Amino acid sequence: MLSAEVGHIMASSPTVLMRLVASAYSIAQKAGMIVRHVIAEGDLGIVEKTCATDLQTKADRLVQMSICSSLARKFPKLTIIGEEDLPSEEVDQELIEDGQWEEILKQPCPSQYCAIKEEDLVVWVDPLDGTKEYTEGLLDNVTVLIGIAYEGKAIAGVINQPYYNYQNNEKQKLREPRNEAKAGPDAVLGRTIWGVLGLGAFGFQLKEVPAGKHIITTTRSHNSKLVTDCITAMNPDDVLRVGGAGNKIIQLIEGKASAYVFASPGCKKWDTCAPEVILHAVGGKLTDIHGNALQYNKEVKHMNSAGVLATLRNYDYYASRVPESVKNALVP
Ligand code: AMP
Ligand code: MG
Ligand code: MG
Repeated sequence: MLSAEVGHIMASSPTVLMRLVASAYSIAQKAGMIVRHVIAEGDLGIVEKTCATDLQTKADRLVQMSICSSLARKFPKLTIIGEEDLPSEEVDQELIEDGQWEEILKQPCPSQYCAIKEEDLVVWVDPLDGTKEYTEGLLDNVTVLIGIAYEGKAIAGVINQPYYNYQNNEKQKLREPRNEAKAGPDAVLGRTIWGVLGLGAFGFQLKEVPAGKHIITTTRSHNSKLVTDCITAMNPDDVLRVGGAGNKIIQLIEGKASAYVFASPGCKKWDTCAPEVILHAVGGKLTDIHGNALQYNKEVKHMNSAGVLATLRNYDYYASRVPESVKNALVP
């Protein structure tokens, strides 16, 4: 019977995209373990890249080696673009993750992505987003980002947050004892969020900011007059200054902030690719400050020169308030 045969073939062979997402999930979990291990060992091996707020640590280096080598072994035809410039050297076998999360393989691939070939995919890797905050002990700001693009569009992504529950475990317990009851003193450290456009985003509880509240999340370590001018024009009820692009998108989907506003160059394609997918998969919107969609084909320049504007809801409220002076200063 042809139909049964086809059904059998489909059930037994997940698409390239779903296999890649399932592998990226396991690889991101391993990355989270490396990030925690480096802190536990105590030697961060900090290197300044372009300036004192643009840093690289041992964790950035090891995690990028782990992610890129693990992906390349399994998917040799992928284009993989990682943030860090590293000498090409033999990667320690201990850094290789070979697993794939079976739960993802059980999910259907959105039909528009079923025929995608390995060589058509571009993977943007931020091995550690929020490095400045990592070096300052603001560990829950840190994420590992693996974004997957097809025909220039971000279509799938995985975010690992190695220190999710950290505040509950270590600090907040003292200030807000009730959180302890919620998360528990033995709450598991770390989590992995993943998503595919047309399928959804998973690994967190979607929540919205109370209606009518305008809470803006923005940079903590890369502030500028332009950033502040843009935020002021939006007349927010509150401004949260935290590290990491991944962290800020998590704030949007968990009801902590209503808009991520960064009217500045500095953020790169590996910062936005995976977070954009998670946000878009639950009905949000991420663009540059002019409202243009970001492009993720392999030839694209890495810098998001025209900044970032992202919301879960009410995108137009924020987009309509970006001052012309800010737009004129940020050329795509
Ligand atoms: P932030 O919100 O400051 O954590 O920035 C989000 C992401 O963009 C992080 O990966 C930063 O390292 C990067 N980024 C933003 N602005 C700059 C900058 N001026 N120089 C280097 N990296 C930046
Ligand atoms: Mg980053
Ligand atoms: Mg990084």
